[in-house]
Amino acid sequence: MAIAAIEAGGTKFICALFDEGGREQIRVRIETGDPSRTLEEVRTFFLENSTHDPVSSVGIGSFGPINVDPDSEDYGRILQTPKTAWIGVNLRTAIQSVLAVPVSVETDVNVAALAESEAAGEAVQSLVYVTVGTGIGVGIAIEGRLLPLRRHPEIGHIRPRRSPGEQAAFAGACPYHGDCLEGVAAGPAMRARWGQSAETLPPDHEAWDLEADYLAQGVATLMLSFSPDRLVLGGGVMEQQGMFERIRDEAHRLLGGYLEYVSDRAVLDRIVVPPSLGGDAGIRGAYLIGRQLDRSR
Ligand code: ADP
Ligand code: ZN
Repeated sequence: MAIAAIEAGGTKFICALFDEGGREQIRVRIETGDPSRTLEEVRTFFLENSTHDPVSSVGIGSFGPINVDPDSEDYGRILQTPKTAWIGVNLRTAIQSVLAVPVSVETDVNVAALAESEAAGEAVQSLVYVTVGTGIGVGIAIEGRLLPLRRHPEIGHIRPRRSPGEQAAFAGACPYHGDCLEGVAAGPAMRARWGQSAETLPPDHEAWDLEADYLAQGVATLMLSFSPDRLVLGGGVMEQQGMFERIRDEAHRLLGGYLEYVSDRAVLDRIVVPPSLGGDAGIRGAYLIGRQLDRSR
């Protein structure tokens, strides 16, 4: 029996089939467009490729916010999102209508956390995964499992202290909170503040000092909240060279030596790191939640 995995993103859906040994057999990339057409392509891919090895369960890691409560009728339904065509779309039922097997739904960051946790091995008991891209999302994996919460946390929307280097006029880009962390530090916030997209800002631009300051505040808050063995920073904005060193330095300063296990600055080099799976964390994590479902039956 195969396990189907879907990484549902705002720009693309990655669909893949994994065999019993956890090896990826085949994958496809489908552009995210109109929901009914996109989901039809997803269903067609799985139907056409599962004739020899039928699918036993499905894992979906999706952009959010999304209903992740397995006990709720609306489990798998996309909630309020800027991608308005997708509001109210239920990814779980869209797949179950054709595959008729159990489907597990989680956020994209949570499944990425799970996959990074698997890759890190048992020495890493607690792992926090942060993505800094179109939004800021946080996923948490403890001992290779996600926290059993009915609703996923939205830690990207906590409010940082405004940086002294900040332009006073910038109100923040979050439609709900203005200057929450996502509102001052995600990709769209950088574009709104500087009038150009993050990847075109040169490394010596003052934007990156400000960015490191805000992300370090987020990192320090997450360190204080969970004292994780590992804190992975991924997403498009983290592609910027040199950000890791700046964030570690500033987070270390903000923590003030209070957390004993990271009172030595050098330790942060091993804790605050880029994703080890690169772009594959999402699809691998979707497979892992599908597999958990299969094993729990
Ligand atoms: P998403 O969050 O939509 O899944 P990404 O994680 O790729 O996608 O994030 C997209 C954001 O990352 C955009 O706002 C873009 O400006 C920014 N970005 C992409 N590449 C880079 C880069 N090399 N340096 C800095 N910012 C980048
Ligand atoms: Zn917000």
